[in-house]
Parts: sequence; structure tokens; C-alpha cells
Amino acid sequence: MTTGKRSTTMRAVQVPAAGAEFQIVEREIPEPGPGQVRIKVQACGICHSDALTKEGHWPGISYPRVPGHEVAGLIDALGAGVSGWRAGQRVGVGWHGGHDNTCAECRRGDFRNCRNLKVAGISYDGGYQEYMIAPIEALAAIPDSLNAAEAAPLLCAGITTYNALRHSGALPGDLVAVLGVGGLGHLGIQFAKQFGYRVAAIARGPQDAELAKKLGATIYIDGGAERAAEVLRRHGGAHVILATAPSSKAMSEVIDGLAPNGRLIVLGATAEPIQVTPLQLISGSRTIQGWASGTPTDSEDTLRFAELSGVRPMIETYPLERAAEAYARMMSGKAEFRVVLTM
Ligand SMILES: [Zn+2]
Ligand SMILES: [Zn+2]
Repeated sequence: MTTGKRSTTMRAVQVPAAGAEFQIVEREIPEPGPGQVRIKVQACGICHSDALTKEGHWPGISYPRVPGHEVAGLIDALGAGVSGWRAGQRVGVGWHGGHDNTCAECRRGDFRNCRNLKVAGISYDGGYQEYMIAPIEALAAIPDSLNAAEAAPLLCAGITTYNALRHSGALPGDLVAVLGVGGLGHLGIQFAKQFGYRVAAIARGPQDAELAKKLGATIYIDGGAERAAEVLRRHGGAHVILATAPSSKAMSEVIDGLAPNGRLIVLGATAEPIQVTPLQLISGSRTIQGWASGTPTDSEDTLRFAELSGVRPMIETYPLERAAEAYARMMSGKAEFRVVLTM
């Protein structure tokens, strides 16, 4: 599938060392090994978790490292022994960057919780580059109707909210609250609406009210002006609160807004403790649960559901060479809502 004189080098944006600034470098285009494909990257979302690579907050990262786990592109070359995928096929790679097939969880089919889970952009070079190598167990097929820049954020922010909600036990008509109207929350509200829930959005300040309603919330709670837990209780209590905002304090404050048998699902990653008393959980048999992303087949479900329902991320795009600026924009918390690099 080589066509004429193709350049043998490509541009990549790498983190040279933990905590160091991004560098744009020229690299050899890598070759896929057995069980791997090469992807011509078309778009790569910038996720807050890319800070793990940038700042070195994940143990054992070897540098230089190219971040990026919201990758959308085309299969460009197949390694030895690869079947079921073809050159030119549209694929994505999300947080689930590979599993070992041998640990206890994999042997039970619970690949999402593989003890040796690989993550693109952490365990190996990710999508902030023109070509990347991925193991086939990390690949998700992308439907034709989704463009690459829209598909990319669905592979982390999208799958995380979609997959958590669809396993939450909430039934159509149930009150589901989404805490945070941001990168994850704006997708969570849309999915919750499309799943047939009665959706409450919780944020701080009045400025997100209009957008939250446009995305599908029928109740908007300004957590700065009123006590969100009380408002939820007034509406009968939430069957599920999807906690997308990375604020342990905000999560602690909404727990009393859960209905009996209600569940707080924790997505927003922070290192601060959530405060809750045993009494809060015992009365009403309430649950607090964390949720991590999903497998590539879960990603395919997410993408197909987005195609079916019209759920789309709101994005700001930047060309690859402006990755440092794009990353700073994401970290500022001011982006609306996902920042995506395009190649
Ligand atoms: Zn992510
Ligand atoms: Zn495993």
C-alpha cells in the first residue's frame, strides 16, 4: 500500500521529561509489530488525564512520551498476524489502550479492569502525532457519519459518561443528576436525556443554565446559590448522580440528594477524600461507586449511540503544532468543552 515517494518522517508532540514543556519533533514513522496497526491520526482530543503524562503523575512512564488517548484516524499499515482490520479503515483508540488477556480479570472477560491495562499516551506513544502504533485490542471502529474531530472526545469523555450511565441501573423516567457542566458533564447530560431520564444538571453559578437545558436538562441547580441536595430531595431524590466535576467537596455535598437505593457514580478524578458518614449511606441503602471508561467495544457502542441519537461533543480544534497552547486552554477549564488537535 505504499504510494510513490512517501516521507519517512512525521511530526510528533512529545513530553521530554516529567513536568517539562512540550516539544515538536520530527520522528521516523514507526512500523507496526505483530498484533499491531499503524494509524494515520486525523484528530486527537486533549483530556485532563493527559496531565498524568505531562507532569509524570503516573508511575513508570518512560520519557520522552507522546500523550493522547482520544485518537481518531485511519489504519495505515497492518503488522504481522493482524486479521479483522483493514488498511484505510476508520478507527479510534481511547483510554483502554490494551490488556494482557492473562490476568484474573481478563480471564473472566472483565478487560476493562485488566490489572495490566495499557493506556495510549502513557504506556506507549499516543495521538499527539501524525502516525501512531496501537495493539489491535485497543481499536474501536468509527461509523462513517461521525467526523474524526467529533469522534475523538467520545472515546474518553463520551464512553466514560455513556458507559457509566448505561450500567447505573437508572430506568427511563428516573431522576438522574449530572454534577458539573464541563467536558464530561455536557456529554453526560445529553446521554442521560437520550436514555429517557429526567435530567438535573448541577453547576456553580447561573451561567450554565441555558446550555444545560439546551443539552437536555429539565432541572438546573446553581450549587453556589442553593443546596443541591435539598433541591434534588424536593424532586424526590436522584436515582443516580453522575459526578463529573473533579471536586470532592461538591460530591460530598450532593450525597444527601440521592433517593433511597440511589447511587453516586464518581467520574471526576481528584486525590481529595469524599466526605460521607456511614449513616448517610445506611439510611436509604445508598451507594458510592467509581467508574473507569470501558473497552473498545464499549467505545463502538458509544459511537453508534451518538450516531443514532445525535449526541455530539462541543469542541474547540487546534492544529497539532499548537498542542502546547491547546493543552493550556484545556487546563484553564475555560474550553467549551473538549479541545481537539487536528492533523
Ligand atoms: Zn481521558
Ligand atoms: Zn488482564
